[in-house]
Amino acid sequence: MMIARRSDVVIVGTGHAGAQTAIALRQQGYVGGIEMIGAEPDPPYERPALSKEYFAGEKTFDRLLIRPEAFWSERDVKLTLGRRVQSLSSSERTVILDDGQTIGFDTLVWAAGGAPRRLTCAGQDAVGLHTIRARRDVDRLIGELRPRSRVVIIGGGFIGLEAAAVLAKQGVRAVLLEAGDRVLARVAAEPLSRFFEDEHRRHGVDVRLSARIECIETEGGRVTGVRLADGAVIAADVVIVGIGLTPAVEVLREAGAKIADGVVVDACCRTSLDDVYAVGDCALHPNRFADGRLVRLESVQNANDQAVTAARAIRGEAEPYAAMPWFWSNQYDLKLQTLGLSKGHDQVVLRGRPEERAFSVVYLKAGRILAVDCVNMVKDYVQARAWILDQRRPDVRALADPTTPLKAVGCI
Ligand code: NAP
Repeated sequence: MMIARRSDVVIVGTGHAGAQTAIALRQQGYVGGIEMIGAEPDPPYERPALSKEYFAGEKTFDRLLIRPEAFWSERDVKLTLGRRVQSLSSSERTVILDDGQTIGFDTLVWAAGGAPRRLTCAGQDAVGLHTIRARRDVDRLIGELRPRSRVVIIGGGFIGLEAAAVLAKQGVRAVLLEAGDRVLARVAAEPLSRFFEDEHRRHGVDVRLSARIECIETEGGRVTGVRLADGAVIAADVVIVGIGLTPAVEVLREAGAKIADGVVVDACCRTSLDDVYAVGDCALHPNRFADGRLVRLESVQNANDQAVTAARAIRGEAEPYAAMPWFWSNQYDLKLQTLGLSKGHDQVVLRGRPEERAFSVVYLKAGRILAVDCVNMVKDYVQARAWILDQRRPDVRALADPTTPLKAVGCI
C-alpha cells in the first residue's frame, strides 16, 4: 500500500467538532502535524445559520466561516476538502479516501457528524425534496423557491420549525407535517411544544400534527404533493425534510469500533479503537448531566466542548468531559435557550405565562433541577446554571413565580 502522506493527527470532518479540535490543539500548544479531511468543498463554517439567517438571506456565506480562510494555513493545519474517508485500518493507522489516496496517522479524530434522515416512502428521491444540513442544500433550496411556491415541511423539530419561521417572514405559507402529537416532543415538555405550535400558526404556518406520510406524489420525477395516510394530498412544489439525523459511523463500524446509536466513546472521547477519538454529533458519550448514561448530543456546544476534551487527551493531559449542555433556537423574535438535559424528569414547572411570550419551563427530578427551556428569559437561563450544578431542591412554589428571580428562590 502506497501511503500518500502521514500526519500526527488526522481529523475526519470539517464541521464544528472537527474544526474546533484543530483549533483547540493549536491553542493548547500542540505543534505536531494536523490534517483535516472534509467531504464538503468549503472550509469549516457554522451550521446553525443554515436554517436561520443564511436561509433568510440575512447573512452571506463568508460571515459563516468559523475562521477566515487563511487561518488554517497560518496555523499549519492542512485542509483536504471535497474528499470522503471510505475506510479505516486502525492496526495500520491509515484511512483511504474516495480518490484512492491513503493517509497515515498517529491519532485519528472522527468528527464526521451525520446525514439527514431520509423518508423511506415512495417518491422520497423526487426532485424538489430538500434537506438542510450543508451550505449546498440551502443554496439549492433557495434556488428552487419562488414567491408563490407551495412548500410542505416534513418534521416539527428544529430544522422544520426554523425553516417555517424564515418562510413565514418572507410571506410563504408553508404546511408543516409532524408525525408526533406535538412539535419538539423529543426535546421539550408540552407547554413549550404548544407555545411554538401557536406561534407558528399565528404567523400563518399550517401546523398539522399526527401526520402520517403515505408517499410523495410526483410527475416526471418532480414532486407535486405529499399524500397522507388518511388519503389527503397536500400540493407541493418544494418539500423540506427535517426528520432527524443518522450518525456517520459506518467506516468506524467496519473498522471494528463499538457502535450503538453512534460511536461509543469514553469520558475523554476515546473510541474502542486504539488512538481513534470521536467528537460531536456522532459520539455516544457518558454525560455527567445524564447521570453518566451514554447520550449523543447534536449541538454546537457539545461539538466544541468535546473537541477541547479530545485535544487534551491527545496531548496526554486527559480530563473527563464535564461541560453542561446548552442549546438555542431563534424563531421569529423568540429566543429559545436550553440548559441541561431534561430527559428523565418527573416534574415540570412553568415560570411565567406563554401568552406573554417570555417564560421558562423548568424540569426537575426528585425535586432537583435538571434543565430549563427559556423563551425570551435570559436571566433564568443564566441563573439556572447554579441550580443544575448544585443539585439543591428549590421551593417549587417560589420557582413557579416569575417575579422571584431564580437566584432568590429558596431551598427546601
Ligand atoms: P429532530 O430535531 O430530530 O426533529 C425531527 C422531527 O421530525 C421530530 O419531531 C420527529 O418526530 C419528526 N419526524 C420524524 N419522522 C417523521 C415523518 N416521517 N413525518 C413527519 N415527522 C417526522 O431533527 P431535525 O429538525 O431534522 O434536525 C436535525 C439536527 O439538527 C438535530 O440534531 C437538531 O437538533 C439540529 N438542529 C439544531 C438547531 C438549533 O440548534 N437551533 C437548528 C436546526 C437543527 P419524532 O420525534 O416523533 O420522531
